[in-house]
Amino acid sequence: IRNQSVWTQEGVIKSPYKTVEIPKYTLYHYVWHNLDKWPQRTMAVCAETGRGYTYELAFKLSHTFAANLRKKLKIRDGDTVMIMLPNVPDFPLVAMGILEAGGVISTVNPVYKPQEVQRQLLMSEAKAIVTLPELTNVVKEAIKIAKVNIPIIVVKTNGEPIPEGTIAFNELSEDVHVDLTCLKEVRRDYKDICFLPYSSGTTGLPKGVELTHRNIVGNCEQFNNPIIRCHEDTTETHQDVVLAVLPFFHIYAATALMFHKMSQGIKLVTLARFQPEVFLHTIENYKVNWLFVAPPLVLLMTNHPLASPKIYRHVNSVINGAAGMAATDVERFLDKVQRNIRYNQGYGLTETSPCVALGHKDIKDYDVIGNAVPNTELRIVDMELKNLGPNQMGELLVKGPQVMKGYRNDPEANADAFTEDGFFRTGDLATADENGILKVCDRLKELIKVKGFQVPPAELEAVLRDHPAVSDAAVIGVPHNTKGESPKAFVSLKPGKSASAKDLCDFVADKVASYKRIDDLLIIDSIPRSSAGKVLRKDLKDKYC
Ligand code: AMP
Repeated sequence: IRNQSVWTQEGVIKSPYKTVEIPKYTLYHYVWHNLDKWPQRTMAVCAETGRGYTYELAFKLSHTFAANLRKKLKIRDGDTVMIMLPNVPDFPLVAMGILEAGGVISTVNPVYKPQEVQRQLLMSEAKAIVTLPELTNVVKEAIKIAKVNIPIIVVKTNGEPIPEGTIAFNELSEDVHVDLTCLKEVRRDYKDICFLPYSSGTTGLPKGVELTHRNIVGNCEQFNNPIIRCHEDTTETHQDVVLAVLPFFHIYAATALMFHKMSQGIKLVTLARFQPEVFLHTIENYKVNWLFVAPPLVLLMTNHPLASPKIYRHVNSVINGAAGMAATDVERFLDKVQRNIRYNQGYGLTETSPCVALGHKDIKDYDVIGNAVPNTELRIVDMELKNLGPNQMGELLVKGPQVMKGYRNDPEANADAFTEDGFFRTGDLATADENGILKVCDRLKELIKVKGFQVPPAELEAVLRDHPAVSDAAVIGVPHNTKGESPKAFVSLKPGKSASAKDLCDFVADKVASYKRIDDLLIIDSIPRSSAGKVLRKDLKDKYC
């Protein structure tokens, strides 16, 4: 820790931690840079089937896959390849292969419906997509609606035949004939984009978030700081075990679980489907010692009949992120564990690769998110973007190596997202005390988070407006005791048209992933809008919630 005040005279909050040197590696080189220390260690294993890979095998297969992406599928530097996979142990191999081939990874939620997939296919201009055999129909439908023609690569998780018109991942990764020298043509620099997840940011529809190699490598190095770091060193006698239950398609798990943990030789135990009993037994049976979770998992780990101190006897640390949770719920969980373990909150966004702040083991206030990670500066500002002081609540702004390059092809969104002095606007309301310890208080932006997943109101409003009886629609988030928040919709109908709330909810359910469904919909005369046409969400909240 640097021994000086974290608040500057101008009201900028500095990280209390020593600045770290960020290597000028691509993410590919960074993840594998320690490989020869632990080639025989397990890198990823499926909790349910025991199928998995050592570090050495994962490297070899992803290397061959990379060569075939270039040779057979003609992927070139900077081309986007989409991954639509749950947490299977092959996910990291696919990701590393795309990076080595010079490609850009764009992840998509495997529970998405064709409409949702096609939008990302088109926006990211994906040149190929990697999925599971059972998701191929959704992908084919998305490709059809998008009117594109791209190869579908399928990862087989058992001996099933692959669907017609697809290419097997293992044919590309186990091909002994491919000319590996083609990889010498790849030209990728640490300043290039390597990851393109989608986020709505503060407003509107999901946008491509351009993360560079430096953003993600930087973030990995930022949480290697000895005070906040979330791993022990891998040695001849010790290997940390991390449960990969949070989805790799989201930046939280992609960086904090996948890329960072692989660079440290840690074992990833993957869960492809969420089944509470399997989840809890895996924690015990695989002797998991680091748990990265989101609030609904903490509630489940407290309240499930199987939850007991025995299940958690190897767990040393629990890091919660993606959304905040009540300190009383955390205390109930720690009572259940009955051991003195580390519990911290992390805070971040897709746009910040993700980590902005993280607690350390001496922080016992479960409402706070700790200090800014190294190399990070923050401001807390009022509506005019003027800096506020300690314990004053305002919008949190971030500057650091983890902040995205920008939203893809969206100058307007970029102009709104950054201040003139280069700080990124999080759209979250926060406070910081005299020591720079942060607390997230509320969300200024319209984004709704259900179980930690983004539900952009604009997306649901657009779907509702597609209904022939709907004239206008607005969606807001309301508190929910297990999901954190849930969407509540308001709809006005076209004159002479009729539709019931149930019809409209069913119409939406048909087109969106299940966590985005609307269960609460009110038909009202008209949607309140400002003179500039913006939905007045606060008026709806004040009047109806
Ligand atoms: P995403 O881009 O999906 O990671 O969502 C980022 C948003 O999640 C942030 O802007 C916050 O609104 C919310 N968030 C993330 N971590 C926390 C946390 N620890 N406490 C409260 N909200 C959080």
